[in-house]
Amino acid sequence: MAHKYVGMPQWNIKGFLCGKCYSQKINEHYPGEHVRVSMDKK
Ligand SMILES: [Zn+2]
Repeated sequence: MAHKYVGMPQWNIKGFLCGKCYSQKINEHYPGEHVRVSMDKK
């Protein structure tokens, strides 16, 4: 799986994230509808 997303500085992540990890982090830090991605947990 390619890790090519750069995390937010406040996430304290060095390096890159794949789309899945990135979406997960987005959900952790910005719950709700801040960001829409193609992944839908429903
Ligand atoms: Zn990943």
